[in-house]
Amino acid sequence: MKCRRCRAHAVIELPRHNAAFCSDCFFLHCERQVVKAIEDHEMIDGDDRVLIGISGGKDSLALWHILKGVGIEADGLYLNLGIGDYSVRSGELARKFAEANGLELKTVDLVDQVGFDIPGGARSARRPTCSVCGLSKRHLLNREARVGGYDIVATGHNLDDESATLLGNLLHWQNEYVARQAPTLPDDEAGFVKKVKPLVRLGEKETAAYCVLRGIDYVVDECPMVGGNTGLAYKEALSVLEATSPGTRQMFLYGFYERGRDLFPPAMRDIELVSCAECGCPTPASGDPVSYCAFCKMRRQAIRTQGGAGQEIRAR
Ligand code: SF4
Ligand code: ZN
Repeated sequence: MKCRRCRAHAVIELPRHNAAFCSDCFFLHCERQVVKAIEDHEMIDGDDRVLIGISGGKDSLALWHILKGVGIEADGLYLNLGIGDYSVRSGELARKFAEANGLELKTVDLVDQVGFDIPGGARSARRPTCSVCGLSKRHLLNREARVGGYDIVATGHNLDDESATLLGNLLHWQNEYVARQAPTLPDDEAGFVKKVKPLVRLGEKETAAYCVLRGIDYVVDECPMVGGNTGLAYKEALSVLEATSPGTRQMFLYGFYERGRDLFPPAMRDIELVSCAECGCPTPASGDPVSYCAFCKMRRQAIRTQGGAGQEIRAR
């Protein structure tokens, strides 16, 4: 098997591109896919301050490394979710990567900051673990970006993640979610920082190979809570289709970005936002005199069930 670009010995085959690459040409391929995503979807301007959500996994570390390689400076934010050994290991690897590459990594510890870890919060709030985790990550990433004066929050969601999310939302006709699914979500005066997903043109196999070939040590074990994550089943369904017909995933997702998104009324994206009465973050208006964001409602429920343990978080 020879590299499509330079004819050297190829180390990876990418059926959806009908191509194989040697390691150097594969790195170039990954950088080009990320730059194309950034340009096509107007993700990052030259002087933007970028904060990346770092989990210690292959996607976020590959993203951080690729952005540095193409000259985009970014700081990282690691959220300690308190998921046993998994969080300990992922935190170690995130710090090791940052130190080795001379990058700044901030850390937020959930227990210190909001009064619960993810397993405890999910039990107390009586909600699925991944729902509590996803809500906490979105909230804290946005909050830390606002407080730190960042223009952009970047996350390591890749082609497999985004196509699986789209499939799940379409299967359940969750039209509002479909209408809002995009690789770039603009900032909002109410306080949402602009969010971008520069890996939407790279699949999981590519980010894993990027890390292995670059010698980046990432947390390989799956999160022990992943059993409750329905997104996995959608990923597997798309993997079956991709194996039969390479390119299905990207046709599905890019076709949606180019043509499908307009089928869902833009009005669905225009939601009146107000400040959460507890933390000051933007939230859809509830119609009541005061509104609380989904995170603060979930946190209050968790803390009430725990008998009032935990500190109040105040507007920052
Ligand atoms: Fe969080 Fe669920 Fe992902 Fe684990 S699998 S990190 S609990 S979203
Ligand atoms: Zn709030």
